[in-house]
Amino acid sequence: MFLENKNSRIQQIHFSEIENCGVSLFIKREDELHPFISGNKYRKLKYNLAEAAKQQKNTLLTFGGAYSNHIAAAAAAGFAYNFKTIGIIRGDELANNLEETIQNNPTLKFASEHNMQFEFVSRSAYRNKTESEFIALLQEKFGDFYLVPEGGTNKFAVKGCEEILAEEDAKYDFICCAVGTGGTISGIINSLKNHQNAIGFPALKGDFLSQEIKKYILKTENWSLNTNYHFGGYAKVSEELIIFINKFKKETKIPLDPVYTGKMMFGIVDLIKKGFFEKGTKILAIHTGGLQGIDGMNQLLEKKNLAQIV
Ligand SMILES: *Cc1c(COP(=O)(O)O)cnc(C)c1O
Repeated sequence: MFLENKNSRIQQIHFSEIENCGVSLFIKREDELHPFISGNKYRKLKYNLAEAAKQQKNTLLTFGGAYSNHIAAAAAAGFAYNFKTIGIIRGDELANNLEETIQNNPTLKFASEHNMQFEFVSRSAYRNKTESEFIALLQEKFGDFYLVPEGGTNKFAVKGCEEILAEEDAKYDFICCAVGTGGTISGIINSLKNHQNAIGFPALKGDFLSQEIKKYILKTENWSLNTNYHFGGYAKVSEELIIFINKFKKETKIPLDPVYTGKMMFGIVDLIKKGFFEKGTKILAIHTGGLQGIDGMNQLLEKKNLAQIV
């Protein structure tokens, strides 16, 4: 069995900005599921590893950006369960000085230490990542492999994410989750009870996400996306967001990542302050992990002379 089904702990959040707002906020610490296969990536890889084994594949090939949580998790999972891993990484300029790239990029360094083999491709080639011709070229180059899509999202990933909520989580009225490709929230939507609602907070711009999610879900109701908290786009941050993440950690001891969970929590706190939730509402935020990305983001912030995530 790969990545056993665990139920992560739930903590109540006490945060000064939402004191006396009449709602209670909790967080499910999926970031604690595994030291390296963190958060939703654990859930998303579980049934993909099982499927790869069933198909008798011994190589996983997947796609991601140079700071991708999915790339780090896929490398660690392959390492732990004896799959060879190949990462198709966006950005061919990164291959110019490979040693230096790997030494300076905490995500790629980690993945490389867990034996992931990299193939750096141009941004235009990367856009073809779901085209059959591109995949045929990869097969010519690397031989037989099990393909895990970018971000890990497919029906096996959604099945794993249906295990995030446990029976006892039925007591929460709203389940909140960060959204990248939509696989995680799809699993959450599928496991909602009828009296519960899910709100997804996309970490990027674009209107395509609802359509993606609809491919995987059985229900049409009880969920929505709030697109007001992407902070300019994927992996874009503002000083306000960094200050929020640092203040939240200082008061609650809970670390958030700048790409996903920080934006989600900023959104939840903002909605609570604006009175979006009725008094007495119980909100459960899902901590989907992503903390490995903090070091890489801090390098970028340092280059721009901006405040660091502490
Ligand atoms: C990948 C990731 C997400 C996005 O998950 P999707 O299933 O792609 O929507 C959210 N949070 C964290 C921390 C992630 O690493």
